[in-house]
Amino acid sequence: MGFSILIDFDGVLLNNSRLNTKISDRCDRYFSHKTGLSLQMSKKINRTYYKKYGHTLNLLNEKMLTDTKVFLEDFNDYVYDNKLLGEVKWDINKKDIFTFKEWAYVLSKLEADSIYVYSNAPTVWLEECISSLECLSSSALGLTNVVSVPEVNDGLFKPTPLVYDRMDTQLSNHIVFIDDSEQNLPIHRENWTNVLYDENVMYSSKSKDYTTIHSPKDMLSKMKQIHLHQKVEDQQS
Ligand SMILES: [Mg+2]
Repeated sequence: MGFSILIDFDGVLLNNSRLNTKISDRCDRYFSHKTGLSLQMSKKINRTYYKKYGHTLNLLNEKMLTDTKVFLEDFNDYVYDNKLLGEVKWDINKKDIFTFKEWAYVLSKLEADSIYVYSNAPTVWLEECISSLECLSSSALGLTNVVSVPEVNDGLFKPTPLVYDRMDTQLSNHIVFIDDSEQNLPIHRENWTNVLYDENVMYSSKSKDYTTIHSPKDMLSKMKQIHLHQKVEDQQS
């Protein structure tokens, strides 16, 4: 049976602490700028609650701002500005290049029908990072496309069920979904195999809803298990 891969970007294909800090700081500053709260207070509120709301933008619109709304384009222009984009290639380090090379190798071995980067970040960020990583590592991901989830879903982010429904409709084959955020994994979807990427956890989760991998190469052995499991199920049905 053929399958497509949806792979998250930040925290999976790239996990660079300098760039992560720059983005978090910009989100806090945007939060402060829009709410009028001090930077210290904004940082505290934003970092405590943004995951619960899925994104800083949702936290602002749903909880913090009563008489106005903030929009995705405004947020992305502020956070992912030209200065940040121009610094990407200088901040990428050897570990990032090693991990990226490993992902490129693993993705080429999985023989998926199609491979999509599937991220809540804007296209400009994804494309800048991917082209820098491909250039610095002399390897390519062999992507079918880069999908910025909110840009193609009217501002909706992972893990809104509707965005997964749309991918289900668009891709008729089985979907292997890789993300580093447990709450993004769309559990209880018959057609999806969910993979949690967590390079810091040394044990495998016992969850029935997803498989945990600790490195890109871990994906190869886990995919063999998934294929075997599917073959047994196919024979039984
Ligand atoms: Mg992520």
